[in-house]
Amino acid sequence: MKINFECKKCGRIFDCDIGDVSLPKNSDRPFFEKKIMCPTCGERSMDEVLLTELGQSQLTDATLDFEEDAVSDFGLYEGDCQGCNIFQPLNDLGLCEECAGKLERDLIRKRDWDYTISGYGLGSAEREEIRIKVIKEYGDKLELIAPDKPKMKKHKATKRKKKKAKNA
Ligand SMILES: [Zn+2]
Ligand SMILES: [Zn+2]
Repeated sequence: MKINFECKKCGRIFDCDIGDVSLPKNSDRPFFEKKIMCPTCGERSMDEVLLTELGQSQLTDATLDFEEDAVSDFGLYEGDCQGCNIFQPLNDLGLCEECAGKLERDLIRKRDWDYTISGYGLGSAEREEIRIKVIKEYGDKLELIAPDKPKMKKHKATKRKKKKAKNA
């Protein structure tokens, strides 16, 4: 991608193709794939140039894209999915793509709009439309939050504990 710089030495403003921008985690400055080249002075380090206003917004756009990618990307890490216990790429909630979809639909069914991705920033009428669509397509049964095969172990344990407490 091209970024607009100003050379500190000669004061020239120039567009420079710096290739891909990445954001190293241990650094607060972006890393450019290619070198910054001033048409007059040649190769320049990051400290030898200034970002123009245009350059700043170009860079902000590039780094914003990153963050959005990170949120929607599956496969950032792998592990056992919280929903189906299958080892596979997960999102930041520890869910696989399929379970994340189930959770999203469950939240829509329950009208937990604040946690949904599709209902974000929508009015109640639009949200209701989404909900009707989901129920039409997938039914009104909860898929993930209350799965068809409930995990009975936990329930039994708590019931037993309560009974014991009563007897004592
Ligand atoms: Zn220069
Ligand atoms: Zn899953």
